[in-house]
Amino acid sequence: MNTPLKNCLQKIRPVIKEIQAYHVADASGLIKLDAMENPYSLPADLKVELQARISMAEINRYPDPSASALREKLRQVMRVPEDKALVLGNGSDELIQMLAMAVADKDVCLMSFDPGFVMYKMIADFVGIKYVGVPLSENFSLDMERTCQAIKQYQPAIIFIAYPNNPSANCYNEKDIEEIILMAPGMVVLDEAYHPFAQTSFMSRLTEFDNLLVMRTVSKMGLAGLRLGLLCGHSDIINEIDKIRLPYNINVLTQISAEFVLDNIDVLDTQAKLIREERELLLEKMKAISGLQVFSSQANFILFRVLDKKANDVFESIKQSGVLIKNMRADVGLLKNCLRVTVGTPSENLAFVDALVKAIVND
Ligand code: PMP
Repeated sequence: MNTPLKNCLQKIRPVIKEIQAYHVADASGLIKLDAMENPYSLPADLKVELQARISMAEINRYPDPSASALREKLRQVMRVPEDKALVLGNGSDELIQMLAMAVADKDVCLMSFDPGFVMYKMIADFVGIKYVGVPLSENFSLDMERTCQAIKQYQPAIIFIAYPNNPSANCYNEKDIEEIILMAPGMVVLDEAYHPFAQTSFMSRLTEFDNLLVMRTVSKMGLAGLRLGLLCGHSDIINEIDKIRLPYNINVLTQISAEFVLDNIDVLDTQAKLIREERELLLEKMKAISGLQVFSSQANFILFRVLDKKANDVFESIKQSGVLIKNMRADVGLLKNCLRVTVGTPSENLAFVDALVKAIVND
């Protein structure tokens, strides 16, 4: 017999029922190197000033619906070309969702590259459009033959290119990206979430291509808790995307905090520099450990493959030692037996390397 509950569940689309919810691991009591966060907090004097600003927030009122002051600040800090527009999202995840909703229709396809950022496919599923993930080459570069063929075949409404890519941490060849932008039948979104660590960007090239959009986030810069992303591009496109944005999507505390921290951007720039330097040290240390294949990185994380042991066992052993990293959970394919670690503070990285050596050599 059908109960009211069963009836409700029957109404949920099968594609949603099949989705595995985005998993966020419990990091209580562990050194957290799983989510590409900046490990540094704000200096004490800035924290005090931020607190004072936040205490003046009018939380009984709705926020500025278009967060115009914050948008202008982001425009300056991120060097968005003058004639380009920008729209803000509650994290860049929300911007991906807005983009997908804007094109969602029968026979529409959203394209990206595999292995890549999982939310592109998840959001395509949420809004009910086809996702095509073009496999990367063995060394995680773009396979241009396959890419061109897939673009011709599927005519994607949007192509997402994470630059650098997550989880492989590399930037693709600039000429290959140009070729994709030129041949794409729709929008190409350069997702520059890890820009502070790559220091290469397509932002200034927005003026060359009307179908190019550049997406950034403040999450990896040190403000993951604020949930704020931005999408920049031709005003005709951005105006359409903006219609989908829910009113007041950037809350008042985020607007105040982000504006304040962006006025002190040198603090975050210094932290990003420290992270880039630590990344090089960590890469060196990891490469010296036998039994690992360590991939180069232009981001704030490092992908590595365990060669002679099971990645699951190594992951668990590292966790037992008190460090949480990310298990890519792949038995086959390009991520086979791979783990991913976020670059932390010098002492966190030391703890990770010790735990890794213990897992690989001693266990
Ligand atoms: N793009 C990429 C490539 C990412 O790796 C992530 C987060 N891991 C995001 C976007 C989402 O970032 P946000 O916190 O702004 O939603």
